[in-house]
Amino acid sequence: MPLAVLHSRALSGLDAPPVTVEVHLATGLPAFNLVGLPDTEVKESRDRVRAALQNTAFEFPRRKITVNLAPADLPKESGRFDLPIALGILAATEQIPAEPLPHFEFAGELALTGDLRPIRGALAMTLKAHRDGRAFVLPQASAEEAALVRNAVVHPATNLLSVCAHLTGRKPLPRTLAPAASIVEDTAPDLSDVKGQAAPKRALEVAAAGGHSLLMLGPPGTGKSMLAQRLPGLLPPMSEDESLESAAVHSLTGRFRLEDWGRRPLRTPHHTASAVALVGGGGDPRPGEISLAHHGVLFLDELPEWDRRVLEVLREPLEAGRIHISRAARQASFPARFQFVAAMNPCPCGYLGHPSGRCHCTPDNIARYRGRISGPLLDRIDVQIEVPALPSDALPSRAGANGESSAVVRERVSRACARQRTRQGKLNAHLQPREIERLCRLDARGEALLRSALARLALSARAYHRILKVARTIADLASAEEIGAAHIAEAIGYRRLDRMRA
Ligand SMILES: [Zn+2]
Repeated sequence: MPLAVLHSRALSGLDAPPVTVEVHLATGLPAFNLVGLPDTEVKESRDRVRAALQNTAFEFPRRKITVNLAPADLPKESGRFDLPIALGILAATEQIPAEPLPHFEFAGELALTGDLRPIRGALAMTLKAHRDGRAFVLPQASAEEAALVRNAVVHPATNLLSVCAHLTGRKPLPRTLAPAASIVEDTAPDLSDVKGQAAPKRALEVAAAGGHSLLMLGPPGTGKSMLAQRLPGLLPPMSEDESLESAAVHSLTGRFRLEDWGRRPLRTPHHTASAVALVGGGGDPRPGEISLAHHGVLFLDELPEWDRRVLEVLREPLEAGRIHISRAARQASFPARFQFVAAMNPCPCGYLGHPSGRCHCTPDNIARYRGRISGPLLDRIDVQIEVPALPSDALPSRAGANGESSAVVRERVSRACARQRTRQGKLNAHLQPREIERLCRLDARGEALLRSALARLALSARAYHRILKVARTIADLASAEEIGAAHIAEAIGYRRLDRMRA
């Protein structure tokens, strides 16, 4: 049979569109033409496939070989197609049988020796291959993450010869099974490690319970980073779908680790990070920190030190939970539903209001420092709090004096989240203005308090909606149907920076 057709996958964002690899042999002068890949990658791919076939003692046909990767306009990285191209040549020359090929998808980069090298995105590709009812043959190092797709048939292979032995039936490849449903080990840092700071801990619980973004303002060393690191541990356990989505995004960067399965991610990029590193991009678009934080937490420390233009790009994903990247001809979209947490010092030196009195920053300097954060970004942060310096004699010396453990708080948070999902199918942070009017009902005293606060503090319409959403979460934590005055009062207390600007 001078024609062989095999199935493989390209990657486009988190999607893995199908690619057919057609290999055709014709009489004529020996040639090896490859259609459907960028010119720069064609030569490398041809060289790898030719060498791998010759070094595994197969015959490389002295005929006119044409390989066509279709469709032609998909973004493709050549390496992953080495394996299907090599197998196609072998099937077209009847060195292996062609009959089993339609039942499989293949991806893997060949070393010159015929060994298979890992590829990125194996999990996203397997999700689609499984949906289309095919087994997936993958490099061994990529097969483990692929097997996380429930019931997917994944065959790990170390080299070209072992794949051929599988197709001839001489020696079937093993099947990689999903790792035993392991209970995610609770190694996350615990809330009870943070000394004192009862009010900020409460704000962290409220943020966790409603999916609210959080800004912490306070001098260095008061535990802002410690608190942020403990937020993922307060969130409800990840569902299987959430775990798969998170793992698939990490797999796109080739850095998924099995021990992170089912664990909410915490990403803490440094303020020198570029816009591409933060939101994703590149010639062949890769996910950035905001997508690696999908279903988890993105923590930006020293917020005023970040480049304003870098922060501006956070606005779209904060609203939409997705990021669209278009660069030249290539477009990609990645999920980015993360909980946003930021921290900053109160002034350039960091010690404004510190009991030591060591701050000598002028009001102008302080205003300029805070002005580096754009109003529109600040407007999108639901909960804004101060994390004050503790007087040194307030440090508790007794064990157990630090308050509740993460597990106890997580229980309350999970109940509050479940109430929201039952009522409206999403967390309060993601309510649209019209839904807020309908779902955030106040009792009479709550209504009166909110009205007087609006007049007194001159809050914007956005701030008004944010107060209502946060108050709804506080009421959900208390299992209350209506929002009362106490809930509103606490929510108003979380607009720290609005009040400073007013
Ligand atoms: Zn200062």
